[in-house]
Amino acid sequence: MKVYVMLGAPGAGKGTQATELSARLGLPHVASGDLFRQALRDGTRLGLEARQYMDRGALVPDDLTIRTIGERLTQADAARGVILDGFPRTRHQAEALDDFLARRGAEVGTALYVLVGETELLRRLSGRLQCEAGHTYQETSRPPQQPGLCDIDGLPLFHRQDDDVETIRARLSQQLAPMTEVVSYYRDRGTLATVNGEAETALVTDSLMRAIADHASVPASTA
Ligand SMILES: [Zn+2]
Repeated sequence: MKVYVMLGAPGAGKGTQATELSARLGLPHVASGDLFRQALRDGTRLGLEARQYMDRGALVPDDLTIRTIGERLTQADAARGVILDGFPRTRHQAEALDDFLARRGAEVGTALYVLVGETELLRRLSGRLQCEAGHTYQETSRPPQQPGLCDIDGLPLFHRQDDDVETIRARLSQQLAPMTEVVSYYRDRGTLATVNGEAETALVTDSLMRAIADHASVPASTA
């Protein structure tokens, strides 16, 4: 079983890259947010448990998150491996994932860190536009065909209210601290591969594929 962990800040394009890698490697893309939404729709025991937290806008506790991910990893389509996206979010979760995998004779193959500098992150996150119906655009990387108007319904586009630079900067630094811990955790274990996430989407995917291939051929102790 090959487990790949995607790491990256909000706005780094981690989810997009996880989808690309999933197609190229033929492994399921397991996004922790989707897992909970699915569990809620299916009304599973774990889903009902998670609902109690999500309904009041609280974070789902580590223990429940780990059990939900663990259950997903035991499903048939995950037998060859998975691409994890949005998990682990903390050092504690990373350790719990290692424990879970070790009990099954598996381990994290490569932790893939899509690195985008703060300046670029702020630019990406602050350039978000949306219409009243919730369709979103990005001023430079994904602009609407006609400036200021939604492609789908022609409604005027506006900047999201919580998207002023200072708010974004504050939110980013809050989110980056635990992620940086997870990055260090995998770096210490010799399983981290960092790629430049500021390049074009297709080039980032190529770098990730190269990182996976390189990593597979290098013993962990020297990586
Ligand atoms: Zn629209």
